[in-house]
Amino acid sequence: MRYRKYIESDAWRSNPARLAELAASRGRCRLCSARASRGWRIEVHHATYRRLGRERRVDLIALCSCCHRDVETFLRRRRYARRVPLRRDVVRVHDFRRPLVDPTR
Ligand SMILES: [Zn+2]
Repeated sequence: MRYRKYIESDAWRSNPARLAELAASRGRCRLCSARASRGWRIEVHHATYRRLGRERRVDLIALCSCCHRDVETFLRRRRYARRVPLRRDVVRVHDFRRPLVDPTR
């Protein structure tokens, strides 16, 4: 199952585990207690993708959009920290074959 397609689907929006987590959190971020009632966007984070599409509530965590972004960034950094950089990746980062030109000048 493709993650992006699933997250944008009605199946995810009406997922009983997702709705149960939102109800259990009472519209608050589990990390910072930001409230949906005060305008914060509350999202549901997958703590695991093991049961993607048939999640249990314990697989999910209600987070405000800021905490959700921070958690995803933390997890991504930890995941990539284990990777050994390859020479070809470094070349791509420092590819100066294309000159940096400011088109407004
Ligand atoms: Zn938060």
